[in-house]
Amino acid sequence: MTNRLPLVAANWKMNGSRASVKELLDGFKQNLPGSDVEVLVCAPAIYIPLAADELAGSAIGLGAQTVSEYAAGAYTGEISVDMLKEYGCRYVIIGHSERRHVFGEANGTVANKFYFAQGNGLKAILCLGEQLQEREAGVTEQVLSEQLDAVIAKAGIAAFTDAVIAYEPVWAIGTGHTATPEQAQEAHSFIRLQIARHDDHIADGIRILYGGSVKADNAAELFSMADVDGGLIGGASLKVNDFLAICQAAR
Ligand code: PEP
Repeated sequence: MTNRLPLVAANWKMNGSRASVKELLDGFKQNLPGSDVEVLVCAPAIYIPLAADELAGSAIGLGAQTVSEYAAGAYTGEISVDMLKEYGCRYVIIGHSERRHVFGEANGTVANKFYFAQGNGLKAILCLGEQLQEREAGVTEQVLSEQLDAVIAKAGIAAFTDAVIAYEPVWAIGTGHTATPEQAQEAHSFIRLQIARHDDHIADGIRILYGGSVKADNAAELFSMADVDGGLIGGASLKVNDFLAICQAAR
């Protein structure tokens, strides 16, 4: 099996200020874990230039929380892949559940965004996850397959070579109801198997992060599962010590 480098990504969502961006990044930089964990911060778009300045010369990567599916032009309010790259972003979260369920991004839009970002030099962190009623109805695997298949159909399996997947059960995001390590492992291994149906090598190498109420005190157990390669962290990434403890747990 490939030795996958753990990745811990902060998703600050629509939180913060110039002052808190500086304070958080200062704290992260001072106590970063070693090179055996990759650490990434996905900042609100307007703070990306500030975060890029703060992170200059540091090992912490910079990412965005969404991106346009279009290259440039008359798309009021949108931010393009090239704009993000110009400010040093290397990653972008695609298809976060809040984009899907609050802003109505359907599987087709998510697939277009993944295809465009991944094809133009940003690494996509593709979020997949079922809602509570879907889990209770026993259709979790069907939902995950549909979300994943839409992207594979558009972008092709080769586009996953240096992409990342985040399994984020919607019922666990921001709720304090973390998936059990076993529930996370079951979903992660299912996702890896779906990819292996197309390409074993890509399935073996791709990092699958868990997201959904990861905290300093549950991270180690979640990250100890065979197919959990790190985390996508919302609330706990807004507290320096909590986020750093989660990064340590991924080592
Ligand atoms: C997220 O925003 O992707 C997330 C997992 O949030 P939280 O950690 O707050 O549940």
